[in-house]
Amino acid sequence: MSRFSKHNPLVYTLINKCRVCFTCVRECPVKAIKIINGQAEVIQERCIACGNCVKVCSQGAKVFFQSTELVEELLSSDYQTIACIAPSFPAEFIEIEDYRFLVGMIKKLGFDYVTEVAFGADLVANEYKKIFDNIESKPTITSDCPAIVHYISHYHPDLIDSFAKIDSPAMAMAKVVKKKYGENSKLVFIGPCVAKKSESDSFEEVLTFSELRTIFKKKNINANSVKPIDFDEPVSAKGAIFPINHGLLQSIDRKEGLGKGKVVSAEGKTKFKEAINEFEKGQISNQHIELLCCDGCILGAGMTEKGKLFSKRMKVSEYAEIKLQNIDIELFNKYFNEFSKLDFSRNFTAIDRRIPEPEKQEIDDILKSMGKYEQKDMLNCGACGYETCFEHAVAVAEGLAESEMCLPFTIEKLHNSIEEINLSNHKLENARKALKQSEKLASMGQVSAGIAHELNNPLGIITLYSSILKDEIDKKDEIYHDIKIINEQAERCKNIVGGLLNFARKNKLQLSKCNIVEFAESSFNSIIKPDNIDIQLINNITKPIIAIDSTQMMQVLTNIEKNAIEAMPDGGILKLELNESENEIEIIISDTGTGICEENIEKIFTPFFTTKSAGKGTGLGLPLVYGIVKMHKGKINVKSNIDNTKGQTGTTFIIKLPKTE
Ligand code: ADP
Ligand code: MG
Repeated sequence: MSRFSKHNPLVYTLINKCRVCFTCVRECPVKAIKIINGQAEVIQERCIACGNCVKVCSQGAKVFFQSTELVEELLSSDYQTIACIAPSFPAEFIEIEDYRFLVGMIKKLGFDYVTEVAFGADLVANEYKKIFDNIESKPTITSDCPAIVHYISHYHPDLIDSFAKIDSPAMAMAKVVKKKYGENSKLVFIGPCVAKKSESDSFEEVLTFSELRTIFKKKNINANSVKPIDFDEPVSAKGAIFPINHGLLQSIDRKEGLGKGKVVSAEGKTKFKEAINEFEKGQISNQHIELLCCDGCILGAGMTEKGKLFSKRMKVSEYAEIKLQNIDIELFNKYFNEFSKLDFSRNFTAIDRRIPEPEKQEIDDILKSMGKYEQKDMLNCGACGYETCFEHAVAVAEGLAESEMCLPFTIEKLHNSIEEINLSNHKLENARKALKQSEKLASMGQVSAGIAHELNNPLGIITLYSSILKDEIDKKDEIYHDIKIINEQAERCKNIVGGLLNFARKNKLQLSKCNIVEFAESSFNSIIKPDNIDIQLINNITKPIIAIDSTQMMQVLTNIEKNAIEAMPDGGILKLELNESENEIEIIISDTGTGICEENIEKIFTPFFTTKSAGKGTGLGLPLVYGIVKMHKGKINVKSNIDNTKGQTGTTFIIKLPKTE
């Protein structure tokens, strides 16, 4: 048997037409379809050429090898050509009332003879009769459906010897025709079946009815353009009924369940598999089984019209009935006696294509990766093309399917992605807010710089003169007190203006290498520490040298430290911790003070925001800190707790500075 021989690939996917709906995966009786690169591709080694996927694909993405050109070439050659027409033709050419016009049309294509495979079926039925009548014969499986032959050969190789070792009607007919019309004749089988293209080398080519119609159309041949001609001999009889359910039985004049041999018939993509399974288990041990992969050959993938099972069946029966009424029985018997002496025996070879069962652990892992942990997670919805989640997982383990084919799992993943996108949006929003903050700071800086610059000189003059006046006036003088206030307030104004100038001074950094541990330690010298406050320094750094602008960075530390001390009027702990990672130095300054309420946390870096009483706070400390840290390409974060039921109150500033050497 030449598997698919020159017709390779026999059934395949048209690239880009496939919309990955998994219908073909679901309908393929042997799971020979794999989703690769967004296309449901046919795995040639597993395919049994039944053509089911071709029938069910609504997109026309599954197609089979077209032999039309090869047949046309053959017809234009010098060879004697003979067409052998499958007995299901009445179910295809319903519009042609008299079959002789169809014969005429086929002859017009250039065939020298047009014969009926039904005679082959008559001969084959006779061979089966011998088996069924023999009490000694073991249970057998009929072998006339090529897809069934592939199926058993690949997936039940142990049953290969159970096949009836008999030619298919087409193969038998090929032997008859060659004997009658010459061994050098070139034969073309014309029928409803795609798998026939892979059955044997008995025929030069195999055309489906749909391909035959294509050639008719191309050559503009129809019933009106030809004369009616009868089939060439040998004439056939009951074999005409062969392609329909129980056809084999009817053609050997035996009814199911009667006689010595009992015959079970099963057709269609699920039933034939069930029958084989039961047969393999010995549950139908004293029966012969007649199997057809399609629902009878009349629904083969090579028919043009889908469905209409019953009217098609009727057409085949009607044709057979009329044939039997008009049969020249003497002529039939003459041929039957002559050709039934031929050898119709046939051998089968098993080609095991079974994939070893995956380990249970592997299947469990795959199920888990699809979010299926327990029985209730197994929805068995079938959307993936497999009947159960378990079967799907097995197919994934075998490399035939992907976990993405699980619809509920993919929907859940989609939901998660949406959540992730929402989270990123949230982060983006935060970044936008931070940007707004720095823009605000920048414009604030410009305005402040202008005002501060203008105010600095007159303020200097006011402080200078008020201070001279204050020194010159006797303390008992009644205006001394007023002058003193003027001087103090002018000093305060100078402080504010000084702060503003600091804040606005967006000068460049003057980086120099510095030991950050010593630097942090020295920051405590620039602040006044009340006795009730304990200072702790925790150092976790081994490489303390980093490049910073030390004047500005000192302002950062002291501003934060001063705030911390001011937040602990009743005493507490001021802690400075230094950590390092590969690229960053982390400075954590925390206090055990009052903490900052959530509402204020958002505002603390805004210039002039202060909760301190007039004269005490300017609200310029933290904006300055923020600006300097950012200039160092660093990050600053705050965490705070004001609720002592949730633990120690206090505030923590975390500064991260890149290690630039
Ligand atoms: P100022 O110290 O002049 O008020 P800052 O910009 O330094 O201005 O601080 C702004 C505000 O942030 C403070 O008024 C205070 O409310 C709050 N704050 C800053 N640091 C702390 C801290 N360690 N504990 C509690 N509140 C703080
Ligand atoms: Mg401050």
